[in-house]
Amino acid sequence: MKMKAVYLEKIKHFETKEIEIPEPGPEEVLIKVKMVGICGSDVHYFENGRIGEFVVNKPLILGHEAAGEIVKVGKKVKNLKPGDRVAMEPGIPCRKCRYCKSGRYNLCPEVKFWATPPIDGVFTEYTVHPADFCFKIPKNVSFEEGAMFEPLSVGLWATEQVDLKPEKKIAILGVGTIGMMTLISSIANGATNITVFDISPYKLEKSEEIGAKEAVLVDSKEKFEKYYGQFDIVFEAAGNESTISQIPYLLTKGGEGVLIGLPSKDDVSLNINMLISKEAKIKTVFRYANMYPRAVELAASGKIKLKSLITKYYNLNQLQEAFEYVINNREKVIKVMIKI
Ligand SMILES: [Zn+2]
Ligand SMILES: [Zn+2]
Repeated sequence: MKMKAVYLEKIKHFETKEIEIPEPGPEEVLIKVKMVGICGSDVHYFENGRIGEFVVNKPLILGHEAAGEIVKVGKKVKNLKPGDRVAMEPGIPCRKCRYCKSGRYNLCPEVKFWATPPIDGVFTEYTVHPADFCFKIPKNVSFEEGAMFEPLSVGLWATEQVDLKPEKKIAILGVGTIGMMTLISSIANGATNITVFDISPYKLEKSEEIGAKEAVLVDSKEKFEKYYGQFDIVFEAAGNESTISQIPYLLTKGGEGVLIGLPSKDDVSLNINMLISKEAKIKTVFRYANMYPRAVELAASGKIKLKSLITKYYNLNQLQEAFEYVINNREKVIKVMIKI
């Protein structure tokens, strides 16, 4: 039996191929993929063919934010059955190394993460996946919301790193998908006083709808100065050298900064004397660990609104068009969904 799979053949060019539908192993399930979100990293591979040391040097299937329906289960699978709707956690760690054993499996050096070369993603009709990395989607939650558990997990993991309290003042620098997810996660964790910063008026407006108390349009560096020394917690989700450099200034004494976004250059300057004199902390996050169960519960509660972040839908055969749309509309695109 064959299925369609869309490959990034070369930079900025997709090609659809017919490939064999995979068979699930004893502890795996076969999933009919239903919805896949386009992530910033997918767009980066599409445009540049690489992210840092990860280089696309043979055709690669992109897509890692996915949900679907189980069609077949391996012999040893007990928690899932055909017909179950699931969100798939895209990174499979080795389960054996010291990081895996200590629960920090996001740091596993052997992790196989969808759509990170050489591991294929899921812009395909079917995929196999370990059963324990598939999470049942609650009845009141759609496939597209299930697909968004992936970026939501990043936001939840970022908020897991800090001491969130309702009275704390929080800043989120950059409200693309990950910044939005950090906003949603902060609110879900009890934050009430959140200021967001971005260059896109559209995204700022969206974040106010979601619950940001204040939204600041950053049209010059001076826009930050008014806020110096004000924030207990600063999340950097823009991945931008100049916003990262703002963190020491924006923090209060004893504050916490969290780096989520990846800057395009490796060495970024930070005012270390200021960080020390403020006894401020800088933390980093890399993907997430054990956040899918939390995403499931939050979505089931109906308290978080993921659907309003979806800008547009395309079909799998329009993947080329969908990626070009994202590239040409960065200011107003939050999440583009692909219906499979
Ligand atoms: Zn992603
Ligand atoms: Zn490992």
